[in-house]
Parts: sequence; structure tokens; C-alpha cells
Amino acid sequence: MTHREKMPPVGIAEQLQPGLQRVLAPNASPMTYWGTNTYILGESDVIVIDPGPDDPTHFNTLLQALDGRRVAHILVTHSHRDHSGLCAALSKQTGAPIAGFGNSDAGRSDIMTALLNAGMKRGGEGVDHSYQPDACLPDGAKINGSWGEITAIHTPGHMANHLCFAWGDDIFTGDHIMGWSTSLISPPDGDLTAFMQSCRKLREMPAKRYFPGHGAAIIQPKEWLAWLMKHRQARENQILFALGQGAFKVPALTESIYDDLAPVLLPAAQRNAFAHLIDLCQRDVVLALPSIGFDAKFQINDAAE
Ligand SMILES: [Zn+2]
Repeated sequence: MTHREKMPPVGIAEQLQPGLQRVLAPNASPMTYWGTNTYILGESDVIVIDPGPDDPTHFNTLLQALDGRRVAHILVTHSHRDHSGLCAALSKQTGAPIAGFGNSDAGRSDIMTALLNAGMKRGGEGVDHSYQPDACLPDGAKINGSWGEITAIHTPGHMANHLCFAWGDDIFTGDHIMGWSTSLISPPDGDLTAFMQSCRKLREMPAKRYFPGHGAAIIQPKEWLAWLMKHRQARENQILFALGQGAFKVPALTESIYDDLAPVLLPAAQRNAFAHLIDLCQRDVVLALPSIGFDAKFQINDAAE
């Protein structure tokens, strides 16, 4: 299942519908697909969702698209630099306050906090440690104005401070739901248990379209979300099947469950497998020896029901 749409032009704002523009940042890569989508909502007073990477070309394109209109709020789905990097510069230029769930430590689960405190290394996904919103939006917070009503939905998983934004019939899904691939879940910032919980939460919310942080608009959101959740379940089944043959460490397990993986994607795949293992340990299905960590040995917990 894919969402076919020609790659939009870089450097030109596209009008997706009245009151909604998309500006594609020039940061295409194997991890970001065609680059980061920045969205502008509204007509005269506007909202910017995810300013994008701190890139002067993108900044200029964005200012051209804004065309002097007042930016009421800068909303941020999460603090990976390809989404939040340009916040500070845009806020300084426009005077608009930055709003998001919280800084890069906000919303983290107990197990991920414990792993981080135990010295676990991050995966290098570009966490923006300088990010600090002027206003923190809890789950369900509303932002009303001439653009309509926007509701923040806390969706930890890809990152603990991840928000989706509901707007009328549509939801801006950041990196929680992307239009071209499954989301990267890389502990200790990524948390698969939280991710699945956030998917179930989103499943209960009606939506006509999802507008992701990377890739095309998703016009069959229910089906796409169901496919993504099934894909995660299938990955878990693969891991349990492999562990049924014996104990594994993360690298060997990753090799056994992914075929034909491009070398550039191997570290991300390993961290994804690790995310599944932590989730399975949390559910007592799998045991980590001597304790949960990237270098641990993982085996089926025979004592589990
Ligand atoms: Zn991200």
C-alpha cells in the first residue's frame, strides 16, 4: 500500500486547498524521503506546523510563502531537527510563539528514562536539545483562531514529545504516521509500547486525511493506519519466531528478520528490532540477560503464561 503523488517542487509553496499550503524543505534523504513538509494553515492570520530544518533556502521559501502574513503560532510535532530546527529563527523573524508538547525530554516513559540513566546511547536521529517551546500543549489542548480549531493529540512513540494536530476533518501526523514508510522507533527516544498505544488512540479519531511530516497526503487514513499496525504485529511475530529458535543479540536478530537491507539503513533496523524487544520485555513475553540493554541477550520468557 503506497500513496502515489509526484514529488512536489522544492522551493515553491503549493496550495493544497484554500487555507492550506505545503512547503517542501530541501532535505531529501533515505530517512526523510522527499524531505520535510512544512504546512501553513489559514489565510490572513496563519499557523505554521513544523518549520523544518534550519536551512537558509527553506527559510527564504517559507518567508516568501508567508508573504508578510501574521504568524499566530508555530506548532511543532516533535523535536527532531528536521522538524523543529527552524523554529527559533522563524519565531525571531515573525514574533510568533512556539508551541509543542515540551522539550526533548518531555513525555518519556519510565523504562526509557531508566535506559537513558543507565547510559544507553542514542541512535543519532537528530534530537534537537535546544528546543524549548514558549507554550506547552497538553493532550487535548485547543488553538482557536481565523484558521479554525486545532486540537493537540499527544502521540508518543516515534518521540516522547510527539503531537499530532487535528484540524477539521484532517490530522497532521508528523512522524507518527508517514506517507511513505513506517516510522522509525529508536530507543531511548522512541518507544514502541507508547507508539502502539498512540496508534490505537488515533484509530478512534475520525479523519478524512492525514498530512504527514514526510511524503504525500494519506487519503485512506483508516486503511493505512490498520496496515501500519499490522506491519508492526508481523515484525513482532518474526522476532518471536526467531527467538523460538534460540537466544539472540540485537545485530544477529536484525540480520535474521530483514532481507536485503541497504547498509545505510542497518543501524535504524537494529534500533527498530531493539524497540520491539524492549516492548516484548515490558510485556514479560521476552527476557533480557543480564538486563535490558542494546548488548543484552534476548530469549523467550518460558515462565510467561
Ligand atoms: Zn522525527
